[in-house]
Amino acid sequence: MSKRDYYAVLGVERNANAQEIKKAYRAMALKYHPDKNPDDKDAEEKFKEAAEAYAVLSDSEKKSMYDQFGHAGVAAGVGSGGFDSSVFSGFEDILGDFFGFGRRSRGGGPRRQQGRSLEQAMSITFMEAYEGCQKEISITKPEHCGTCDGTGLKTGAKPATCATCGGMGQVQVQSGFFAISRTCHSCGGTGQRIDPGDLCTTCRGNKTVTQTHELTVNVAAGVDTGMRLKVRGQGEPGLNGGPPGDLYLVIHVEPHEFFKRDGDHLYAQIPISFSQAALGTEIPLPTLQGDDKLKIPSGTQSGQRFRVKRAGFSILGRPQSFGDLIIEAVVVTPKKLGKRERELLEELAAIEGDQVNESRSVFQRVKDLFH
Ligand SMILES: [Zn+2]
Ligand SMILES: [Zn+2]
Repeated sequence: MSKRDYYAVLGVERNANAQEIKKAYRAMALKYHPDKNPDDKDAEEKFKEAAEAYAVLSDSEKKSMYDQFGHAGVAAGVGSGGFDSSVFSGFEDILGDFFGFGRRSRGGGPRRQQGRSLEQAMSITFMEAYEGCQKEISITKPEHCGTCDGTGLKTGAKPATCATCGGMGQVQVQSGFFAISRTCHSCGGTGQRIDPGDLCTTCRGNKTVTQTHELTVNVAAGVDTGMRLKVRGQGEPGLNGGPPGDLYLVIHVEPHEFFKRDGDHLYAQIPISFSQAALGTEIPLPTLQGDDKLKIPSGTQSGQRFRVKRAGFSILGRPQSFGDLIIEAVVVTPKKLGKRERELLEELAAIEGDQVNESRSVFQRVKDLFH
């Protein structure tokens, strides 16, 4: 039996967006869900078919493989028509609210378990944090083994029931008056016995293989060092059909050579000369938004701060909102003087005689405080 086109299965156009695909799948899944159609083989088939189509079309990587190569492009990842229980995880994510089953385990099989979440560091530049960016990252992690479809077994191989526990995974041990249940030593609690020759040769029975793949993540403007960006479903695969874990990217923002960041505000020091501070001037001011100018009023003191509204950092979650830029003027004393400069400063010093006396009287007042 040949497979139907996934887009046709969901009844959407080839250029349908993620929202439309999700919506179509949701409608199909609600209609054909086995709970609503007990013992209806046809409905079950339709449900599986829709779930398989959605598993591919909702995953940008698989979707792109499918768009290019058709069913052949994704056959290894999705399983060949057999019921892929991981498909249920996507389904429950979508419909969990409707039926109220978040993590219901299906049947008497081994417990479904969500995959482990992963954490990875991600470094971005100051400007990337300011503007927001798309980052291509490389992630190496265990993936569902495509060869055995996560069963850990060779095609056609079936695990035998553990003879020790009869498939229960537990054995009863008589301890005096009591009977105690213990995990079966022969099978480690799985209730199954697998012949080593039956193990999948790709994953050697681990059900997963370590793979590296590229992932594009969107980083919002305004993120800061230490923030954790959650990428849903990109952690380790779930166990026994459980949903995958999540990936957390711990952000590190590289420092800027000129600006220092404090939350949404930016700080910078700008050196000015004594004459600029005394006379006042207008100096060029670089900002993250481009070149600007800053007016330095006459009589500016070293350490004096000027606030430039909305020239600070982007505020996370509020597009086009910015903190302030705070500029600290630093009056620089010249280290070397030319002949003419020295003459002028000596002349100035002579005129300043009175003011020097004034500062001496301040010194005197401070001394008086201690005597
Ligand atoms: Zn056993
Ligand atoms: Zn395998």
